[in-house]
Amino acid sequence: MGQQPKKKKKIIRKSPKQILPKEEPLHIIKSEYVASAVREDQYPEGDTVEIAFLGRSNVGKSSLINSLCNHRGLALVSGQPGKTKTINFFNITSKEEIDEEQERRYDWFLVDLPGYGYAKTSKGNSDRNLWSSFIANYILESERLMLLCLLIDGRHPELPIDEAAFNWLKEVGVPLQIVATKIDKMTNSERSKNLKTIAERYPTDTPPIAYSALKHMGRNKLMARINTVLTGEQE
Ligand code: GDP
Repeated sequence: MGQQPKKKKKIIRKSPKQILPKEEPLHIIKSEYVASAVREDQYPEGDTVEIAFLGRSNVGKSSLINSLCNHRGLALVSGQPGKTKTINFFNITSKEEIDEEQERRYDWFLVDLPGYGYAKTSKGNSDRNLWSSFIANYILESERLMLLCLLIDGRHPELPIDEAAFNWLKEVGVPLQIVATKIDKMTNSERSKNLKTIAERYPTDTPPIAYSALKHMGRNKLMARINTVLTGEQE
């Protein structure tokens, strides 16, 4: 039997519009570093609303901030030189598309609080109970703080240091959103089990949000939560 003539491959061409990712109706259009502070007199002036991010060192906070803002290198990821122990303020503009003709824009500060729970001393020893006093000062003093996102490593939902941080924050009465990080590192069953544990251990008004900075999963949910704070439409 002779060789069959090769069939011509059918090529499906997509227009660039279909290939490019669709812009989300709610997203950050500007993010820039403003200031670092360890004392109140170093906080930026004005009455811009603040949304803060806090978590144990290495929880994935910098990666989450970069993912949320779609801005690689905005916050320094572990292992990068110059990672500081200061409170860092970023100037953010987020955009909400209402319909084809209308949009709303919000200016706010994203406040990156130093990671707690782990710090290498100059001698290489680690001090596992470190919580910089200026983290507490900031949370107690800032009148512009409207929401604090407490990050919990999705793989480690029961760390005593996170529970201590949560209990303190609850007592102080700051509005909280729990975010479970690095969820791409778990299987589906592990993920649902740990999310249940997190919801039980860290009860807040809204359910925890599962986030993967690697895959940008959870970004829309977190943006929606932040938007309810910015618009004053808190559920
Ligand atoms: P931070 O100390 O809380 O700011 O944590 P980093 O953002 O610096 O992240 C610590 C480490 O976890 C880094 O090696 C990141 O690449 C990694 N990481 C952070 N977020 C994720 C994530 O969502 N998925 C995965 N697979 N790795 C992550």
